[in-house]
Amino acid sequence: MTAVVINGREVALASRTRTTQRVQSFVDQHGRAPGLATILIGNDPASEVYIRNKRRSATDAGLIDVHHHLPADVTQNTVAQLIDDLNADPAVSGILLQLPLPDGLDQTELINRISPAKDVDGLTTLSQGRLARGVDGLWPCTPAGVIELLDATGVTIEGAHAVVVGRSELVGHPAAELLLRRNATVTIAHSRTRDLAAVTSTADILVVAAGIPALIGRDHVKPGAAVIDVGIHRTESGLIGDVRFDNVLDIAGWITPVPGGVGPMTIATLLSNTVVAAESSAR
Ligand code: ADP
Repeated sequence: MTAVVINGREVALASRTRTTQRVQSFVDQHGRAPGLATILIGNDPASEVYIRNKRRSATDAGLIDVHHHLPADVTQNTVAQLIDDLNADPAVSGILLQLPLPDGLDQTELINRISPAKDVDGLTTLSQGRLARGVDGLWPCTPAGVIELLDATGVTIEGAHAVVVGRSELVGHPAAELLLRRNATVTIAHSRTRDLAAVTSTADILVVAAGIPALIGRDHVKPGAAVIDVGIHRTESGLIGDVRFDNVLDIAGWITPVPGGVGPMTIATLLSNTVVAAESSAR
């Protein structure tokens, strides 16, 4: 058996097309497009690339691009004031603070300053609490994208055993919460898990977000499982994930490639979160 390779670019494109249509309906109804505010602090080259892609995608979807680039030595107060201003600005529907922040800034404090109604990255403590409580809200982009990829495969999440490898605030933990909301039986594996392969090889759905290149091979995978690889690592032979794709391909039922799997979904979810935020606040 060879796994079905999940085409993240295709699923992301379909999502972005739906978002573009929702932006258009919002414009028709309200006479203005929702705005996505991005804040970049300092000059980290990777962050600059991410922000450029997010802004371009937002503009492509018809959103208004509101960008602020601050120097690395900006004070906590100045950033806090900017976030307050954006919170109060009715033209801004979503606020994204690009992470990581330069040393000297209190990341948690600044994230929590973002109004939960505009928290399109789903990273404020309130958004996390809503997710944990099972209350509707804005979900973190990458984990929400993981669910959308699973839905695109037609795999039934409800009742399935889902194993998430990794418990980070950004990916693993919220992915587990989202799977639980969809009534999967969820196991979270992490760096202290004793026998990783014994745990992962019972998974119908395996989401890998450990940040370790090639961690998962065929011994970790149940035949026919849906394997979603969130990892992305630059190596001399190109980009690779946390999963050994070639090694797992003929045992899994579905698998995401790296690149072209989860990656494209993150921006797609950011855009849809922005429209959802705009629609909710216009209600
Ligand atoms: P990401 O942002 O991709 O989630 P992080 O580095 O923030 O990555 O988190 C890595 C996560 O992976 C942690 O929760 C950690 O417990 C988990 N992890 C690290 N090593 C292993 C391992 N060998 N087996 C299982 N989980 C691991």
